[in-house]
Amino acid sequence: MKLDDLVSLAKRRGIAFPSSDIYGGFQSTWDYGYLGTEMKRNIRDLWWQNVVQQRENVFGIEAAIITNPAVWESSGHISNFTDPLVDCLDCNGRFRADHIVDDTCPECDSKSNFTEERNFNLLFKTFVGPVEDNANVAYLRPETAQGMFVNFLNYQNTIRHKLPFGIAQIGKSFRNEITPGQFIFRTREFEQMEMEFFCRPEESVEFHEYWKNERYNWYIETLKIPKEKLRIRDHEKDELAHYSDATSDIEFDFPWGWGELEGIAHRGDFDLSAHSKSSGKKLNTLDVESNTHFVPHVIEPAVGVDRILFAILCSAYDIEELADGETRTLLRLPSAISPVHIAVLPLSKKTNLISLSKTIASELRKFFRVEYDETQSIGKRYRRQDEIGTPYCVTVDFDSLDDNAVTIRDRDSMKQDRIQVSELVTYFKNQLRI
Ligand code: ATP
Repeated sequence: MKLDDLVSLAKRRGIAFPSSDIYGGFQSTWDYGYLGTEMKRNIRDLWWQNVVQQRENVFGIEAAIITNPAVWESSGHISNFTDPLVDCLDCNGRFRADHIVDDTCPECDSKSNFTEERNFNLLFKTFVGPVEDNANVAYLRPETAQGMFVNFLNYQNTIRHKLPFGIAQIGKSFRNEITPGQFIFRTREFEQMEMEFFCRPEESVEFHEYWKNERYNWYIETLKIPKEKLRIRDHEKDELAHYSDATSDIEFDFPWGWGELEGIAHRGDFDLSAHSKSSGKKLNTLDVESNTHFVPHVIEPAVGVDRILFAILCSAYDIEELADGETRTLLRLPSAISPVHIAVLPLSKKTNLISLSKTIASELRKFFRVEYDETQSIGKRYRRQDEIGTPYCVTVDFDSLDDNAVTIRDRDSMKQDRIQVSELVTYFKNQLRI
């Protein structure tokens, strides 16, 4: 698969557009179109179902994006959230030093001609209130996680649940990345889904293993990502972030090679201890048996919604050779992610076909995501639905007016079945498992 082909499909069909498109775009930022918006919503819903709704001990939160700067001081982000930056002395390009392969400039291919590494802080700065001075500096959050740590006591006091428990959040994060790009893989504004799982220190290694497996299996079982496109990689000690005792990445085989999809970090007691120290509040838990307090340890699965969408698009994209020598492009999306479950297509624009088709579409819309389309030839409409990953098309033809049946076309096999209109809802409930 060529990345350019996927990006062009995404723009052509309404999945994602370069942001500020009419002004020539803006620095690798993207706006999601009507299909991308729906797909992201499906990803968020599936994650929330799996991580929060279906568990008795994980609780949701929506924390602020702009917080007291003391949060970032204590978390270590102001001093440590940096990437190593180098300039190429030949083309003046700026790159992340740890992304340079074989000491060669990714822009102009010159070898070993870089400035010394210097650390570049990724926090986005802003000012709160009308005066732009140091006293009013604040930061856009670079991760959602700190919202969970600073609310630990509030949750301990309100959820009516003892350790272990998790606090989960979906929301935007911002990082002034040195080199954003590769479509929606790395952007400066992105959406994260993170969960902080608080547990007793002696159980933390076991829970790290547990969450690694849970998260890995979710990609295979729920998102239907093929096993061979995923792997788990444990970080070496010198790769670990400043807060982490151990981290494992779930990696995906992106068009340019293996890359991080999700990180599952063992954060130890780093965050709660740091915030206890700075705030003077005791972020700990009482052990009833020994009547002593201890600081819980934390396991954190953290992933980007945009990055999951990208991985799903990469796994679903296919170009298939047809028997007549033609090819068709399709997205073999799992139906849980497909922005449209069923397309209802009248064969012609004759009034009575249109009205029957619209009635069928509005009935199906009560249960499924449905698109109605009467433009262009039926062949072109099938192609369009293939390209946006719609698993089923319902074609309403002249016979439908007499036999009250329609033709169902399956995206993957292109097999066609004739089904009574009255049986459509049951049929699709079975097929789509909804
Ligand atoms: P990298 O080293 O690639 O910059 P990271 O290890 O700092 O990434 P984490 O802090 O572990 O990333 O972030 C958790 C998850 O959030 C990542 O696995 C990824 O899915 C997502 N993510 C992080 N940064 C970005 C970004 N700039 N754009 C899109 N998604 C991101």
